[in-house]
Amino acid sequence: MRICRFDNQRVGVVEGDWIYDVTDVVRERGAYRYPLPIHDVMVADLEALRPAFEAAKATASRVRLTDVRLLSPVANPGKIVAAPVNYSAHLAEAAEDQAIHFDRQMKQIKEIGLFLKAGSSLIGASDPVVLRHTDRRNDHEIELVAVIGRTASKVSRHDALSYVAAYAIGLDMTLRGVEERSLRKSIDSFSVVGPWMVTADELSDPANLQLTLSVNGETRQQASTADLVIDLEGLIEMASSFYTLHPGDLLFTGTPAGVGPVTAGDTITAEISQIGSMTVQVLAG
Ligand code: MN
Repeated sequence: MRICRFDNQRVGVVEGDWIYDVTDVVRERGAYRYPLPIHDVMVADLEALRPAFEAAKATASRVRLTDVRLLSPVANPGKIVAAPVNYSAHLAEAAEDQAIHFDRQMKQIKEIGLFLKAGSSLIGASDPVVLRHTDRRNDHEIELVAVIGRTASKVSRHDALSYVAAYAIGLDMTLRGVEERSLRKSIDSFSVVGPWMVTADELSDPANLQLTLSVNGETRQQASTADLVIDLEGLIEMASSFYTLHPGDLLFTGTPAGVGPVTAGDTITAEISQIGSMTVQVLAG
C-alpha cells in the first residue's frame, strides 16, 4: 500500500494518479494527551489502520496527485538516523575532494557509525529545499529511507527487516564544510522524504533497488542498493545496538557516488524503483 500525507494534514492511499482520502480513519482512532509519545502515532498503528484504509477507500473521495501538496509521509519521527558515506564509490569520490576534509570526516562508516538529523529539517516532496548558505557548496544526496514500524532494541541482522514498516525516497541535503554533519545536514528543509511511503510487503528486495537522481534533467547519481557498504539489516543492527528505534523513526541509508552541487533555481528529480519519483525545487532564502 502506498500511503501519503497531503495538504492540511490529510492522509491518503495512492493508486495510480489518484489519492483516496482516508483521513477520517486516522482521526477516529483517538486523541493523544501530554506527554505525547516519542513515536509517530500513525506508523505505530499502521497494521490496524491498513485494513481500515482499504475498507474506507470504497467510499472515500479522491483527488489527483498533481493537485495536492505532498507532506512527509511520516509526520513526527522521533529520530532521523542517517548513515554517512555508505557506498564505496562515493567514499572514493569524497576522498578525492579536499573541500570535504577527508581526514576528519571521511573515515569508513564502520568507524564513524551513524549520525542524527534534526526533525525540524523534514519536509515532503512538494516543498522546496531552501538554501541558507548560498556562499558555500550545497549538495544533493539521494538515499533509500526505511521507516521503522515497531520498537527495536538490540536487534540482530537476521530479524532486522521485520522492523521496517515502509520505504520512501530521501534527499539528505548537505552543506559542505567543517562543521559536524548533524549541523550541516539539519538545516530547515534539508531532509526531504516522499513522495509517499510504500509498505514493506510491496518491495520484493530492498537490497536490489535502483536509485537515480537528476538535476535539471542531467543524471548525477545512479546506483543500486546492492552496493551499500553496510546493508539495511546491518544499519538497523548497528543503530539499535546504541538506542531504541521507535515506530516512525526514519533511517537514511547513505548516498551513492555522483554527489554534486545545487543552487537556487535548480530542480532535483529523485527516483527509486518500486517506490516512485519526486521532483523538488531548490530555492534560496
Ligand atoms: Mn547522506
